[in-house]
Amino acid sequence: MVDYIGVTDMQRLLQRVGVGEFIGRLAKRIEYDYRRWGSFEKSARLASHSADGVIELMPTSDGHLYSFKYVNGHPRNTDAGLLTVTAFGVLADVGTGYPLMLSELTLSTALRTAAMSALAARWLARPNPTAMALIGNGAQSEFQAVAFCHMLGVRELRLFDTDPAATSKLRTNLSAIDETSVATLVVSGSVAEACSGADIVTTVTADKRRAVVLTSALVRPGMHLNAVGGDCPGKTELHPDIMRRPDLRVIVEFEPQSRIEGEVQQMGPDYPVTEFADIVRGQAPGRLRESDVTLFDSVGFALEDFSTLCLLHELLKEHPDLRRRIDLVPELDDPKDLWGGAMRGRRRLRRAA
Ligand code: NAD
Repeated sequence: MVDYIGVTDMQRLLQRVGVGEFIGRLAKRIEYDYRRWGSFEKSARLASHSADGVIELMPTSDGHLYSFKYVNGHPRNTDAGLLTVTAFGVLADVGTGYPLMLSELTLSTALRTAAMSALAARWLARPNPTAMALIGNGAQSEFQAVAFCHMLGVRELRLFDTDPAATSKLRTNLSAIDETSVATLVVSGSVAEACSGADIVTTVTADKRRAVVLTSALVRPGMHLNAVGGDCPGKTELHPDIMRRPDLRVIVEFEPQSRIEGEVQQMGPDYPVTEFADIVRGQAPGRLRESDVTLFDSVGFALEDFSTLCLLHELLKEHPDLRRRIDLVPELDDPKDLWGGAMRGRRRLRRAA
């Protein structure tokens, strides 16, 4: 039998563990896996683009466990009452090739993206950031807010979205949870207003084009930029002038994938970037000067979903009452008698009729 985590199971797990605790624990697991970067099979994700969005497959393995995620990104979906991003994934045993767990990953992707963003900021932002601008107040935004309040101690969130209803939804949701109750929520009338006085700027907008959400004039020395929404070819958020700033240091997850999908797709193949794994392994510096602008050019890498699936698998062992199993793979007395396994089901159905 294969472990199964559906959306309701995930909701129960989050209630049991707490969202902030879950994100903090996931960030630790992601950092642990980035420290063993050399153990992982790495490839840019396989993307199937269409006029309205993208469907992607994201596989990786550390030689013992294998994982993949199926994920989509369809910015116009919300007009039809659907999510922009949905996902599910599998954790499998490399030794037998058998799947160990099938899991929802829509909620988990928001959690892991937020955990990764806050983890990168812990390494890159100046110490003790107070205020964060949160541009784009859709599905991912609460998770980002919780991660930065819980992991970095951010105390002021400056919110902006072109859709005021999204900001209003974010404000209501954040006001109702403990993790962000310590933060002051400031609804801003523009990106410029949101950025003024912010130590960190998170952009998490959805638009399938080269959008200009943030311009260089709004970026002050010492800021940390957490650019989450530009994650596909032809889909970016930062004006290219930001990328040309001499005080900018750009940190990516997996360079070959980020050059296709990240903000760095706007620059040439020799444009300098540093992989996050090199920073956590002490092989490259993060921020060099107080006045540097650091950019975490987030696109989401398969290792982060591997870490998420591993943590979920661990949590099922810690909370056995929440464990559900499904018969995804036949269990046979004689593994060569698959036919017998197929007919057993037929006989059962006949008896039931
Ligand atoms: P969503 O559609 O729920 O929310 C996006 C919000 O951005 C909407 O409220 C929209 O009104 C707003 N917006 C669009 N253009 C804007 C602009 N110019 N200024 C301000 N607000 C603007 O989408 P979501 O699920 O929250 O995802 C947000 C983005 O994050 C998507 O682009 C998605 O692909 C990306 N994403 C990245 C990762 C990663 O690992 N980097 C992971 C998950 C999602």
